[in-house]
Amino acid sequence: MNKIKNAIRTIPNFPIDGIMFRDVTTLYSNSEAMKEVIKLTCDYWKNKSLTIIAGIEARGFITGSIIANQLSLPFVPIRKKGKLPYDKLSQDYELEYGKASIEIHSDALNGNDNVLIVDDLIATGGTALASIELVKKLNGNISGCSFIIDLPKLGGKEKIEKEGIEVQALCSFEGH
Ligand code: AMP
Repeated sequence: MNKIKNAIRTIPNFPIDGIMFRDVTTLYSNSEAMKEVIKLTCDYWKNKSLTIIAGIEARGFITGSIIANQLSLPFVPIRKKGKLPYDKLSQDYELEYGKASIEIHSDALNGNDNVLIVDDLIATGGTALASIELVKKLNGNISGCSFIIDLPKLGGKEKIEKEGIEVQALCSFEGH
């Protein structure tokens, strides 16, 4: 796990003052650390009857699609508003300042799918909870959520666990 945490670069005050931006581009370019990310994630979820991996734009696409391929499962994208070309469902959610919306194709799930939601980082949990709502709207079962990084101070992981959903995080950082 230290190999993973040590490969993540921190940029203070990006994109705004007071935020410690956890930059995973340095992790993605470290193939040894990435192998560990994929192994730890696949080992954790491989016997949990998943049928599909849903990755959240944009950094969740990178790990999510590798995990899907390793587990021989389909990958579906959850995208920011206005990017998906076909029929879609939308979910609004609160950001620290303002609102955002994410979308999923209406035919992305089969109705009885067991879905693992993947993103790089969980902070307040707003993005992941909106993704969970989208999956539920398509009658998917949430098997769990997987993140590389947890920011426990922001409480997102706890919020999702309180809904009875299993959450995996490979490392955590103090503060915002
Ligand atoms: P949240 O919805 O508050 O859980 O925020 C999670 C989303 O925002 C993820 O897609 C992250 O990529 C991004 N994010 C939030 N805080 C940070 C941070 N400190 N460093 C890097 N990305 C972040």
